[in-house]
Formats: sequence, structure tokens, C-alpha cells
Amino acid sequence: MKQGQISVQSENIFPIIKKFLYTDQEIFLRELVSNAVDATKKIQTLSRIGEYSEELGELKVVVSIDENEKTITISDSGVGMTEDEIEKYITQLAFSGATEFVEKWKDKEPEQMIGHFGLGFYSAFMVAKNVTIISKSFQKDTEAAEWNCDGTTSYTIQKGNRDHRGTDIVLHLTDEDSETYLSKWKIRELLRKYCRFLPIPVEFDGEVINNTQPIWTKKPAELNDEDYKKFFEELYPMQEAPLFHIHINTDYPFNLTGVLFFPKINHAIDNRKDRVQLYSNQVFVTEDVKDVLPEFLVLLQGVVDSPDIPLNVSRSALQSDSNVKKITAHISKKVSDKLQELFNANREDFESKWEYLDLIVKYGMLSDDKFAERTKDFCMVKTTENKLHTIQEWIDICKVNQTDKNGETVVLYTTDSQAQHMSIKSVTDAGYQVIQLNGPLDVHFAGFAESKFEKVKFKGVDSAPVNQLIEKDETIESALSKEDQETVENAVKTLVNEVAFDVKIESLPPQQEFISIHKNEWERRMEEYAKMGQGMPFGDMGLKKHTLIINSNHPLASKILTQTDDLRTDTVQYCIDLALLEKNMLNGAALERFISKAKNLIQ
Ligand code: ADP
Ligand code: MG
Repeated sequence: MKQGQISVQSENIFPIIKKFLYTDQEIFLRELVSNAVDATKKIQTLSRIGEYSEELGELKVVVSIDENEKTITISDSGVGMTEDEIEKYITQLAFSGATEFVEKWKDKEPEQMIGHFGLGFYSAFMVAKNVTIISKSFQKDTEAAEWNCDGTTSYTIQKGNRDHRGTDIVLHLTDEDSETYLSKWKIRELLRKYCRFLPIPVEFDGEVINNTQPIWTKKPAELNDEDYKKFFEELYPMQEAPLFHIHINTDYPFNLTGVLFFPKINHAIDNRKDRVQLYSNQVFVTEDVKDVLPEFLVLLQGVVDSPDIPLNVSRSALQSDSNVKKITAHISKKVSDKLQELFNANREDFESKWEYLDLIVKYGMLSDDKFAERTKDFCMVKTTENKLHTIQEWIDICKVNQTDKNGETVVLYTTDSQAQHMSIKSVTDAGYQVIQLNGPLDVHFAGFAESKFEKVKFKGVDSAPVNQLIEKDETIESALSKEDQETVENAVKTLVNEVAFDVKIESLPPQQEFISIHKNEWERRMEEYAKMGQGMPFGDMGLKKHTLIINSNHPLASKILTQTDDLRTDTVQYCIDLALLEKNMLNGAALERFISKAKNLIQ
């Protein structure tokens, strides 16, 4: 038996590894099983190229636990290692890798990392007080070797007791960790999480836990819809079928494979837990793919596999990594290409899916200009009659009847067709058409569409009196003198809170309301930006959120001039209350007053 000393500066790195990676302790199993898989793949390759001519036998990795001995064993029949190789690969190389890793990360928060590749074999010491390797190399005339290390920097190596090719890694668990990891349930859970799609069968408790040929490793031409459906069900059991899938299969200029599913997502902010999973050569890395997937695609599902995504680096390094940027851009392109294809192939079907695509497409357009350029021709808008049109189609329709004096086409929209019912009715009575923009990003989207399409303006149906929505050149004379207008205006002003309302008297067609309340378009936009944390607080700017417009040409305007003060107050108050009621703004004492007045009317 030989005793050795691992030569490193820091006396004992194991406690550091252990403490440092505590939050992600369970990855030890992933690391050891992937090593076993790597060794197995190596023997397959050697056999294929004629460097190894003996029987390969059944190639699998077996994980087992022994509750009495308090051990976990990972066995493979891969290439194995000679005594010299253990010295070289485990004691020197793996150790220096682990040391480097700790040096690099000891000052950082674990959350800054994505995956912990690079730690490899030594992650075993996160749960084991003692690790034994028993290995026999595939090479002829070599002897088995046994290596032991107790988590300090010294180890022993001697002849081992093993007559067949391969390696056993035996972890003697620490007392505190044995409770967690000696459970069959726990080990199966970990294997299902990390090893579910490894390319070599992994057996635990008499059962193979993995699918060695997941769909993304195959060519799209070899697969049919049923295969994708089955794979989706395998990944996300009990979930509603996705709308469609995208198969990614690229090997230049980076290696990227995967299958993304477009789930049914609708307006409510979706908190779904089952997101895209990131793999590296079929080894599960993380479900936290925020920095690899464009942000607007985080609600997608499926798998992305790339050995070209650097895994042992910090978040910020990942974001500035040029491969990751290219991969992100590639995925975004794949998604828009697929949408275009669906739109071209079957418009009716595309429209039937639109309600689920709406939010993601708009989010994508707002956050990624290239995506916007590729999708703006099939991004849909929905009318109040629930018909869908592309933006350009809709602008062309509006052009006929809704072009203002400056030659700009006005697209009228409602953010809530129930609450804004009265306004919708007045504008449709005037012969105009309205689309629904009721999604969380839609008001931003309106501003965005104005910038992408020429001579177009979006306006809320309730943003101004009907005749001012699409401005014409004609001016309407006021039926009242300046003096009378002032009297009417003051009668209204004394009854409203001028902090909340901007009061204006205007000459409108006599058939329009006497008093009406509007949400100025610009104010609505500012409010939406503020909601997204981009605007300025209204209070500080002293903005008024609503405009109250008095129509000086309405018959009531002339009538109240002839009324006594009390009667005038009554009439004006009632008209204000009606305007508030129309906008769902009548409440509290004002509502009580209004209701008792209404009751009096029917007595
Ligand atoms: P990596 O897998 O990234 O090379 P590890 O620390 O996981 O780093 O492993 C170090 C080396 O030890 C491997 O490259 C391999 O040469 C050797 N090794 C580890 N496990 C096995 C095994 N089960 N069979 C054969 N060789 C192994
Ligand atoms: Mg490894």
C-alpha cells in the first residue's frame, strides 16, 4: 500500500467545498453518474474504432445504497483506471480542478453560479466522509486498484479486488448526510432530476430510470407529431397539450439542440413552474434559463441542450458571453420563423391560436427589435366584434373612414369593452370601428405600433368626445356668448374637485353629451408606463387624471342659464353624476346622493 499527500496550498479544501456548495449539495450524484457515463461511452468508442476487442457486455451504470454500511455506490463497466491513472486523473487533475474552482468561487454567493460543472469527482466529499474507488482498467495485463481518501489531503492507494472492467465509486456518508441520502425515494428523485436523459442506461433498485435517446438527440425528419406529444407528456405529465413545438438542431457556429413547446399562455401573469430545462450533453443543468433564453420566451417549455453554454460562470459573465448571445438570438429567430410558417400555412388555425400567442409575441416585439421586424406582419389585432386582422390590414381598413385632418389614420381602441361600453357605442354610432387592447402590454404596444407603421395614431375610445377623436378641419361655433360660457363653466367647477379633473368648456355638436369625462390619451400612456415602473409619479407632476368637458352647444347649457341657483346646482350635479356613472367613477356619498335622486324620480 502506498500513502500519498495531495499537494495543495490550502490544507483542507473539503470543508470549503462542503460549506460553499451546501445549497447545491445534491449535484454530487449528477457528477459521479456522468463520470460513469463518460467512462462507458469511452469504452464504446474504443470498441467501435477497434482499440478494444473484448466483449463489451451489458453497458449500464448501477447506483445502489446500503443502509447498514451507510454507503452509496456508483458502478460502471466503462474504461476503468489503473493505479497510475487514478493518481493522475483523480489525485492530481481532479484535485487541481476542484482547488481552482474553490479559489474562483469562495468569495462569491452560490446564487451567482449556474450549474457547478468543473467540480466533478470531488463533489463526492460534500456528502461523504470517506470515498473509495475500486477500478480495473480495460487495458490488458493491468491490475485492479483501490484508492481511499478521508476528506483530508492524504490518501492511500493499493491493489484492488476486482476482476472485471470498470469502476465502483463508494461513498461512506457522513452521519448528518446519511439520513437524507440513504433513502431510496431521495436517490430516485435525484436520478430522475439530473440523469433522466443520460445516454447510457442508469439502473437503480432494479429499474432503469432514464430515456437514453430523448427526442432532441434525433433528427426532426425521423419524428412525427405523436413523438413530440409523448415527449411533452414525459416532461410535463398532466398538463394541457402545447400549441406547437419547435425543434432546434444546429451545429454551426455553435452546438445547440432542443425542442421547445409553446404552451397555452393567456393574459394572467403565468407563474408556471415547469419551464425550459437546460442540458449539457444530456446532463441536466438547470431550470433557470433566464439568461440563455430571450426573456420574452421564459414561459415556453421544453429542453435546450448545448455544450457551448459556459456553465461554471457567473450570471453577468453568461450574459456577456458571445456564444450565449448568439444562442439567444438564434432561439428568437427560430420562434419567429415558426410563427411565420404557421401563419403562412393556415391562417385560420393561426388565428385560432392567437389568444395564446398574443402576449408573448407582443412582449417579444417590445423587447427585441429584430423579433419585431420579423413578426410585425402577422401580429394580430382583435376588433370589438372578435375578428382578427394583421396590423397593416387594420390600418388599411381604418384609412377609409378614420383619417384625420393631418392625414393620419386613427386606430381606436378599448382597454375594457364592458367598462367602456358607452364610449364604444358612441364611436360605433358615428361609423367608426374599434379594436380591443386589453392585455397587460397593449397600451405600450400601441405606442410601439405607431413607431413601426407610418402615419398611424392609436387613441382610446374614451380619450376625447367623439367628434374630437378623428380631428376634422371644421370648427363649430358656440351657441353661447363668452360670458354665458363662463357662467356655465363656473357652475360646473364649483361642484367638482379640480385636482382630479381638468374642466374645459367646448363647442361640440349639440347631440353629444352636456358633460362628459375622458381619459386623455397621453395620460393613459403615462399611467401605463408608471405601472411598469418607467414613468414619473403623477402626484409630483400635478397631473390631472381625467378631463371633464362641458358641451356649450348642448340644450342644457342654455337651459341652466335660465334656472335659479338651486335648480342649476341640482341639474349640473345630476349631469356630473351621470358622467361619473358612465365611467364607473360614481361611488361613496356621490353614489348615495345619485341613488336617492333616482328614487325620487320614480315616486
Ligand atoms: P471531468 O469529468 O470534468 O474530467 P472529474 O473530476 O469529474 O472531471 O473527473 C476527473 C477524471 O477522473 C475524469 O476525467 C476521468 O479521467 C476520471 N474518472 C472519474 N470517474 C471515472 C470513472 N467512473 N471511470 C473512469 N474514469 C473516471
Ligand atoms: Mg466529471
